[in-house]
Amino acid sequence: MTPIVELVNVWKSYDGVQALKGLNLEVWRGEIFGLLGPNGAGKTTTLKIIVGLLRMDRGLVRVNGVDISEEPYEYKRIIGYVPESVSLPDYLTVEEFLIYSGKIRGLSEGKIRERMNYFIKLFDLEGKRRSLIISLSRGMRQKVAVASALLHDPDLLILDEPFIGIDPAGQHVLKELFNERVKGGKTVFISTHMLDTAERLCDRVAIIHKGQNVASGDLKNLQQISRAGENATLEEVFLKLTEEAREQLFEEEPIKRRGGFLSLFGRRGP
Ligand code: ATP
Repeated sequence: MTPIVELVNVWKSYDGVQALKGLNLEVWRGEIFGLLGPNGAGKTTTLKIIVGLLRMDRGLVRVNGVDISEEPYEYKRIIGYVPESVSLPDYLTVEEFLIYSGKIRGLSEGKIRERMNYFIKLFDLEGKRRSLIISLSRGMRQKVAVASALLHDPDLLILDEPFIGIDPAGQHVLKELFNERVKGGKTVFISTHMLDTAERLCDRVAIIHKGQNVASGDLKNLQQISRAGENATLEEVFLKLTEEAREQLFEEEPIKRRGGFLSLFGRRGP
């Protein structure tokens, strides 16, 4: 079986900032997969490359077996994406926006109404159906963005920090929704800092640090890789692995710095 998302040796830099350094990643069909990592690890960059919002410098990304640099459009049909900070058209109503999203996805009027009504009810937005998006709270906007990403019932739902700003009841609904989708064979791929939630929710996770995959697998795999013990929580495993990755980088760095210092010293020496 081929993974639904596969990254092989992916590199990306922004004006000299090396965000991804040979990242490898596999997400399997029918799982909830969590991308974890400290601030600046490269999670958002990774998700943006997969959904086609950013171009990688080097490497291979396959979605549903398709090389996205060779077929940059068609593969997006199977994706629903919710970015970290959602930016929706302020002066459309919730209903107008969702109808517009459904039309872009090529859905029939009837299908759009059916799916829209389902999500409006699910996310408790009935009272806001005809309100302008600008008048919604941040969490409500987030829910509208999730509804919009799900209208076409995508095989692969990708969400960057989906729980931020959503109230506990909304978070519960989202988690149920994710679980239901994977039961039906769909895939959910999230990035998150909420390690307790990731531990309970995700089938597998990848921990990335400074643009590289430090470890991936289920909790058992990660407990073994980190040698943190069989009762270690995901948080304990995460802290241990990222600390080790940081130390390893620190060990490599002084060699470079020492090299620079010695050559400077050498020039001044006899
Ligand atoms: P966080 O958990 O803080 O959201 P992240 O894991 O999503 O972080 P990215 O947003 O992918 O990390 O950033 C990875 C690296 O790339 C960081 O060093 C960041 O400063 C840098 N970076 C991201 N976007 C840009 C940009 N538009 N221009 C320059 N550097 C950027």
